[in-house]
Amino acid sequence: MTVFHETLYDGHLAHLGHEYSQRFGVKQVLFEEKTEHQHLIIFENPRFGRVLALDGIIQTTEGDEYAYHEMLVHVPMFALGDAKQVLIIGGGDGGTLRETLRHDVERVTMVEIDRRVIDLCETYMPSLSAGAFEDPRADVIIDDGIKFVAQTDRVFDVIIVDSTDPLGPGEVLFTEAFYASCKRSLRPGGVLITQNGVPFFQGDELKASARRLAPHFADARCYLTVVPSYVGGYMALGWASDDAELKTVPLDILRERFDRAGFATRYYTPAIHAGAFNMPAFIACLTD
Ligand code: SAM
Repeated sequence: MTVFHETLYDGHLAHLGHEYSQRFGVKQVLFEEKTEHQHLIIFENPRFGRVLALDGIIQTTEGDEYAYHEMLVHVPMFALGDAKQVLIIGGGDGGTLRETLRHDVERVTMVEIDRRVIDLCETYMPSLSAGAFEDPRADVIIDDGIKFVAQTDRVFDVIIVDSTDPLGPGEVLFTEAFYASCKRSLRPGGVLITQNGVPFFQGDELKASARRLAPHFADARCYLTVVPSYVGGYMALGWASDDAELKTVPLDILRERFDRAGFATRYYTPAIHAGAFNMPAFIACLTD
C-alpha cells in the first residue's frame, strides 16, 4: 500500500476551479524551493516516477516525458533533414536538449531563465538530460528568452520554445514581440516550434498564439502529441514556417531520414510524424 504524504493538484487546470482537477499522490518530496523566478518541486509518484512542477503546474515526468520531448524535437528535425544550428528557449529539465543532440547538429544553444531548474533536474531527475549538458555541442545560456532573441544576431535552422505556460516568467514567450524576434533569428525556410498546451482546456492559448504568429509566418498551425500527465487529451505543439511544404514531407523521405539517424524512440515514428498534422475539427478551427 503506497503511503501518500500529500497530494499535488495540478495547477494546469487551476482555472477550472472545482469543476475538474488532476491530483498526484506525493510519495516523497525530493526537493522544493522558491527560486528567483518560480516555485519548484520535484517529487516521487508511484505511477509517473519523479515529477517536476513549477508554480504548481506539472512540467515533466520520468514516466511520459518521451511523448513530449520526442515530438517537440524530431518532427521539425526530420522535416528539415539538415538542421545544424538549433535554439532551445526554456527546456531546463534537459529533455529537449537530449533529444536534439541525438541528431547530427553542430551546435544547440539553450537559453533558460532559471539556473536552479537545470541544477536540480540534473541532481534529482538525471534521466531527463542523460548527460546532454556535458555534450560539447551544447551551449547553455542563463537568460530571459525574450531578451536573448531580441539581441542575438545569430541565425538558427530550428527554434524550439520549451516553455512553461503563459504565466510568470513564461508569459513573455507567448507574445507577438517574441515571435517576431524568433522569425528574425530563423534562417529562410527554418521552423519555430512552441509548447501550446492542451486545446481541450487551453484552446484560447493556442488561438492567441496562432493569431500572434500569423503576421510573421506564412504557415502558422500546430501538430499533436498525447502526454498522459498533461491531462485533457491531445497536446498542441505550435508550428510556424514560411514553407508550407515543410509539414508534408513525404513519408518515405521521413522513413529514410529516421533510419539514417539510427536511434530508437518510444513515441515518435515517421508515420506518427506524418499523421500529427491531422487534427480534430475542434482544434483545427483554433488555428485556421
Ligand atoms: N515540458 C514542459 C511543458 O511542456 O510545460 C516545460 C519544460 S521546462 C521545465 C520549462 C522551462 O521554461 C523552465 O525551466 C522555465 O524556467 C523556463 N522558462 C520560463 N520562462 C522563461 C523565459 N522567459 N526565458 C527562458 N526560460 C524560461
